[in-house]
Amino acid sequence: MRRTKGLLIDLDGVLVQGKEMKPLPGARDFITFLRDRHMPFRIVTNNSTGSPAGIARRLRKKGISVSDHTVISPLGICPQVFRDRSVEKVFVMGTRELKDALSAEGFHVRTDPGVDAVLVAQDRTLNFEEIKTAITALRENGAALFSMNDNKAILDDDGLLFAGAGAICRMLIYAADYHRRFVHFGKMGDLYNNTLFHQLSMEKEALAVISDDLYTDIKGFQEEGLMGIFLTTGKYRKTDITEETRPDLVFDRLSELMDFIRRGGFHP
Ligand SMILES: [Mg+2]
Repeated sequence: MRRTKGLLIDLDGVLVQGKEMKPLPGARDFITFLRDRHMPFRIVTNNSTGSPAGIARRLRKKGISVSDHTVISPLGICPQVFRDRSVEKVFVMGTRELKDALSAEGFHVRTDPGVDAVLVAQDRTLNFEEIKTAITALRENGAALFSMNDNKAILDDDGLLFAGAGAICRMLIYAADYHRRFVHFGKMGDLYNNTLFHQLSMEKEALAVISDDLYTDIKGFQEEGLMGIFLTTGKYRKTDITEETRPDLVFDRLSELMDFIRRGGFHP
């Protein structure tokens, strides 16, 4: 049995729930518990709007005591990649908050197809005009396609599903005959994972991921060599576990996971 020395903690469905980032039961205690034990951790999120510092600030306001550098979000990665690739003008399919953040970083956020890049993010107000602009930018103007994450579908607060940024990108790729490599800044992407594993510089076998997502997070990080700890407080239930998705541990509450760690479960 391996010894777990560091944790990746998914945000939505583990520590908080929904757009308003409402803390889930036990979230505050769990983070305090890890800090008291000096257990290294990173909060790993595909949140496509907030910077690491912005997300950390929101969490602290809700009593979840994390410092800025413990949050890894796509917006913490995107600006440097744009600079490396000489992207100046960008068309953004995303929220006002994201557009403002990119403008503040010095990029020209445009509303016409004459851009260097199209950036897809989670957006509940996506419309026909935006889809037309994006396809035209990619197909006619040679813009490069980027995405904040590779999410397939998102469970909205009303219980219905909408297309995630990854799904929107697949539509654009098909419509625009886009043949270049699709780059995203989210979990399981090279850029995100390199940042994460560089920061938590320990062997992957000494790390565990805690998530409500059986596929991208549990299965994805298990394939990287991490232990997968599934929490049923988010989008999937125990009955969703299949042959294909086999978490190493399953808990219904963060308090149960805390008891497990207290009993020495990570140091057999
Ligand atoms: Mg989640």
